[in-house]
Amino acid sequence: MAHSEGDAESGIRMPPDRLQDYVEAIFSAAGSDAEEARTVAAHLVEASLAGHDSHGVMRVTKYIDWVKSGQVLCNRHADTVIDRGAMALVDGNFGFGQVIGREAMTIAAAKAAEHGFAVVSIRNAGHLGRIGAWAEQLAEAGLASFHFVNTSGFGILVAPHGGSDRRLSANPLAAGVPVAGAQPLILDMATSVIAEGKIQVARNQGARLAPGQVIDGAGRPTTDPEAFYADPPGAIFPFGGHKGMGLSFFCEVLAGSLSGGFASNPGSPTAGRLVNNMLSMAFDPAAFGGADAFAEDIRRLVAWTKGSPPIEPGGVVLLPGEIEDRTRNERRRDGIPIDHTTFSRIVAAGESVGVPAPQ
Ligand code: NAD
Repeated sequence: MAHSEGDAESGIRMPPDRLQDYVEAIFSAAGSDAEEARTVAAHLVEASLAGHDSHGVMRVTKYIDWVKSGQVLCNRHADTVIDRGAMALVDGNFGFGQVIGREAMTIAAAKAAEHGFAVVSIRNAGHLGRIGAWAEQLAEAGLASFHFVNTSGFGILVAPHGGSDRRLSANPLAAGVPVAGAQPLILDMATSVIAEGKIQVARNQGARLAPGQVIDGAGRPTTDPEAFYADPPGAIFPFGGHKGMGLSFFCEVLAGSLSGGFASNPGSPTAGRLVNNMLSMAFDPAAFGGADAFAEDIRRLVAWTKGSPPIEPGGVVLLPGEIEDRTRNERRRDGIPIDHTTFSRIVAAGESVGVPAPQ
């Protein structure tokens, strides 16, 4: 495998197309058909390109473990179990979230085109990965959207505001809007102060966490990623204290309880496997104030917001999704960085399904 640079400290850099081929080969060997392997690999490589290493190719290792243990089932598709005009409920059949999410967003886009808006509720999908991908898919179809996500009990990681142990999932939110002549703006965020995958990244890199992000198993603040994974385990704070906890709680309600995929609870019937549930709402601007007026108002909003004088000399106001666009451009040019620990784990996962280590 070609990598453009690397040393023992920083790991390697790989061109995205080479990484795509390698990761695709691993999922094919694990049992996915060609389309699924391509879709899952593209989602993970795209997350790495966007700078969300925690939801990028680092996940290959876990995903392969889950396929082997039967927690994720290959070659499953989204089943529409309820279809009522602008609303659908989709069951993911424990298939790859990357496939189920893509199929569900295709349903949402078709319904929004017909009705002006759509609400699609997904239950029992595998890990839906980088949630911003779903807002991007709808923005490509000209739609504004909002998404709430939870897990049913496998990924309980977050302490409620005022609490000292894990009760809620990291429960991401995403929103997207197309921008005429430019990249869509995409808000994509966990409601925890840090995504759990970023603790894994810090652990793999031997780095400390910033203060104020996690508590250890005794409820004491810590910056040690190992303390988070100790026994008893630590917990992550919700972002913004009681406000982030409130949003997280309603991710549980809207994504979990409403879909029948369950809110986070160790007693949920599906708590033994990582399932994501998602409520997605899509809006066709043409059905509201008119597509041209909407596009013009978004253009004004962008210019007005970004026009704020930087608080620090040389600073810049970034809108949701802009930092990912910048990282994408850099990584397309320079390759995707992967630390050695993460890379050796991906290689081990590949070898375990018969894909040889890259040269
Ligand atoms: P983050 O904190 O890196 O970014 C959150 C949002 O803030 C993004 O929209 C980003 O564009 C914006 N942003 C970042 N820096 C900015 C700046 N300087 N100015 C203005 N805006 C800025 O994201 P996160 O909360 O760490 O989430 C990471 C990823 O993890 C996301 O892709 C999320 O979907 C994913 N995730 C998935 C799950 C799941 O269960 N599938 C769970 C948790 C998180």
